[in-house]
Amino acid sequence: MKRHFINPFEAEGEWFKGNVHAHTTKSDGTRTPEQLVEIYKEAEYDFLSITDHSIVVDVGGLGDRGFLLIPGEEICVGRSQAGTLYHLVGLGVEETLPFRDFDYDLDPQSVIDYINEAGGISILAHPYWSGLNHSDMMKLKRYHGVEIYNTSCEYERNTGLSSAHIDGLIVAGRKPWIYATDDHHGADRPNLPLDACGAWINVKAESLSIDSIMESIRKGLFYSSTGPEIKNIAIDDDGVVSVECSPVKYISFVSTPSLGMKFYAEAEPLTGATYPGRPRETYVRVEVTDYEGRTAWTNPIYNI
Ligand SMILES: [Zn+2]
Ligand SMILES: [Zn+2]
Repeated sequence: MKRHFINPFEAEGEWFKGNVHAHTTKSDGTRTPEQLVEIYKEAEYDFLSITDHSIVVDVGGLGDRGFLLIPGEEICVGRSQAGTLYHLVGLGVEETLPFRDFDYDLDPQSVIDYINEAGGISILAHPYWSGLNHSDMMKLKRYHGVEIYNTSCEYERNTGLSSAHIDGLIVAGRKPWIYATDDHHGADRPNLPLDACGAWINVKAESLSIDSIMESIRKGLFYSSTGPEIKNIAIDDDGVVSVECSPVKYISFVSTPSLGMKFYAEAEPLTGATYPGRPRETYVRVEVTDYEGRTAWTNPIYNI
């Protein structure tokens, strides 16, 4: 079978680690932009996008040569079948979006189109937490991706993992890129872990600049993780997919949902697996999960 995949492991450049969804005291977060930058710098991230509600925070002066700030904003608009709002992250938008946040009567498509027009990327945030079903997501077009994992939703409500939503979308014919983000708010509750540095994307880019990182994200030259490292993806001429990764407990080739295949570690952890593909599948994406339940996700590899 023939696969189509823009393979970040074959692209030129270096890997850069970043979080593209986070809030500060400029909206409903508990930390100032300066404090948040310190947290991510300490954790050796390369870039961060502060995506407060209703405002593109001026991040000039917050970054330095080794730490990049990408401007962004989150906005919640529209009405799903369940009556809930769609949350959209506008990554790379430089000016505050001219829409009212929490506007149930505003068509989310107009926001997506505006973000694209402004040179940004739209990410449909935390569909599970939002109560979206895949029909809600099918109504919209031209968004770049969907959050497969959101740290804040997971830690606070156990509704951070949206893999079924994404697979529903793909089998219905859409081709989203998939993101893991923190959506940091810093809520304070007894025993609640800090929702920072829990999920990220690793981007293969020429350099640590807004243009270079955004261009690579746009092309899909990234994968997502909450812990494990994916070291290589290779696809041969027959469409056989191989993955190499840090030591893990499971490697799953998630495909058209009744197909695909999951591999289990035996005495030793797994550090790779190969999947030949199965008839009638339309895509495959790789998930690797370590012994602590942390996961890395590749973008989908679509059949052509
Ligand atoms: Zn949100
Ligand atoms: Zn958010």
